[in-house]
Amino acid sequence: MKSVALLHASQLVTLSGPKRPRIGHEMSDLAIIRDGGMLIRDGKIDIVGASKEIEKNARDAEVIDAGGRVVLPGFVDAHTHLVFAGNRLDDFERRALGETYEQIAAASGGIWSTVEKTRTANGNDLFAQARKHAEWFLKCGTTTVEAKSGYGLTVEDELKILQVMRRLNQEMPLEVVPTFLGAHAIPRDLRESDYVDLVINEMLPRIASEKLAEFCDIFCERGYFGIEQSRKILTAAKKLGLKLRMHVDQLSNFGGAKLASELKATTADHLEKTDGQGIAALKSAGVQPVLLPGSVYALGSTSYPRAREMINAGLAVVLATDFNPGSSPTASMPMILSLACTQMKMSSAEGVTASTINAAYSLGRGEKIGSLEPGKLANFSIFDCEDYRELPYWFGFPQTHSVYVAGQPVDLAR
Ligand SMILES: [Zn+2]
Repeated sequence: MKSVALLHASQLVTLSGPKRPRIGHEMSDLAIIRDGGMLIRDGKIDIVGASKEIEKNARDAEVIDAGGRVVLPGFVDAHTHLVFAGNRLDDFERRALGETYEQIAAASGGIWSTVEKTRTANGNDLFAQARKHAEWFLKCGTTTVEAKSGYGLTVEDELKILQVMRRLNQEMPLEVVPTFLGAHAIPRDLRESDYVDLVINEMLPRIASEKLAEFCDIFCERGYFGIEQSRKILTAAKKLGLKLRMHVDQLSNFGGAKLASELKATTADHLEKTDGQGIAALKSAGVQPVLLPGSVYALGSTSYPRAREMINAGLAVVLATDFNPGSSPTASMPMILSLACTQMKMSSAEGVTASTINAAYSLGRGEKIGSLEPGKLANFSIFDCEDYRELPYWFGFPQTHSVYVAGQPVDLAR
């Protein structure tokens, strides 16, 4: 494979630093190189430095001239629901007109409408729509996403969704990290205890034996899966070798953060209602919080998680889109950075750290992606601006110039 020399980034935002997730003040240190460049060999970063240095070593390398634009590592989106059929436009309209979640669900909207459409869709149709979603992520500068199942809620339909993710990995440049979220909701035609048994006795063993997921997730919330049921499902998942992520404390301070700490989950996600005790529990167990301001915004709420308290407590905060049709229909990490700065009082630098290197560690890929350092995959994006702080500042429109995965340009035109 040929070598590639990237030259003349106004800011090469490397995020080089300790080989672990960043905490406290470390989240503000992006290790920026002005007029920076990289030499890439066989899809991996070989040398990082000033453009002058890189040029000296470039020899016959193909040159990419960043032309004084910003270069960042590809965003790592650690919480998405990428694979589903249809949309929830009718719910969106009803919410705009002031209806509540309960009213919308009673009018056959809500998650159940997405489950029905996803069950009806065949594997090819589901793949075609998921491929479109994957293109949206790439166009926003994201090169790795975690993706959850959870709109099937039967053995076959959950497997169908996870197989679509496997196919995305084979056919698209976007890397997809699969998570099994069978415990997303309780199907209308089953009792809770029967569905928990189905997840534990049938779904989890199939998914583990076919290696269709790396993580198991659960919607731990009053009215969905309680603390006892969550403990049961996640303990079974852990025994089968799956790592844990959890949806917790989104609607109420329900004890989810504490359960995540008890089970040594990799991440606890949402945390809108988590209090100081919950934050302390996450810290003592080394659980990474994944904050999802897009869903707070899109639901028209103002109850954002306590990002500043979490950073001050030394938690390795992660930001993600929560891309899904009901509560967070966005694939745009720059939009999430804007919300993090304006609504959660994070700095632009903390936002970039939370959506790259910290997110990569939360997916078990911190040694491979998330920063621009020798030995890592050459996944990076060039943005049409000179200062990385322009990404959250100019909000609501794409500033992506080009995106590279393993040193290869991604075709953003399709
Ligand atoms: Zn979610």
